[in-house]
Amino acid sequence: MGNDLAALSNKTQRMLKLLDELYGKADYLDKINFSFTENGSTIKVNKDGFHAVAKAVVEERILVQTRAAAGPRASVAAGLYSRQFDILFIDKNKIKTKHDQGVIVHECTHALGDLQTVQHFTVLSDESVAFLAQTMWLKAASAPLPTHPDDPEYNQIFVQADMIVTKNKLTEGAHVLLTGADIVALRSAVKKVYLDVKDDQRVTDAGVTRAATN
Ligand SMILES: [Zn+2]
Repeated sequence: MGNDLAALSNKTQRMLKLLDELYGKADYLDKINFSFTENGSTIKVNKDGFHAVAKAVVEERILVQTRAAAGPRASVAAGLYSRQFDILFIDKNKIKTKHDQGVIVHECTHALGDLQTVQHFTVLSDESVAFLAQTMWLKAASAPLPTHPDDPEYNQIFVQADMIVTKNKLTEGAHVLLTGADIVALRSAVKKVYLDVKDDQRVTDAGVTRAATN
């Protein structure tokens, strides 16, 4: 009995530590509560979902590995998610700021979509959803949105995501369902960064890996 309790406590401690590592303060997730639907797939992005990702990590259904990030914005990336292999790549050495932490939230949003098997999403919408969650997290953490001096296209993604947040009152905590019409401008901004991704390319299309699309 003592051992069981110790094991349970151990797992709980590990979970709490992981939640903190992945998402920062617990209340940063409180107001994130939206769904997005496309091609018959729906992702629910909320605190429970992010906790489900952490649980999957604790239970090793999602693996965490350290690897140098790759992709169009590798220099600013602290994380990566492989849908194919269920691996979150997190470079803890690169997590120094809230912006870095926001990248982890972005990757965990991809992992969340994978847990919810949103296999019919297009890559550009999948990225848009992850950037939207990242933006909401940054705002909750009182961090300014990215303004990389030499990367206006990347910055513009967050400008568009922030407009969706404001227009749909996403910071009030009540659930909001978004569809393709709500993210048109955000998706266009994402496309200007993910130049090699075709408009109708789906996340499950052959040849698509997260490695190419942080
Ligand atoms: Zn992404």
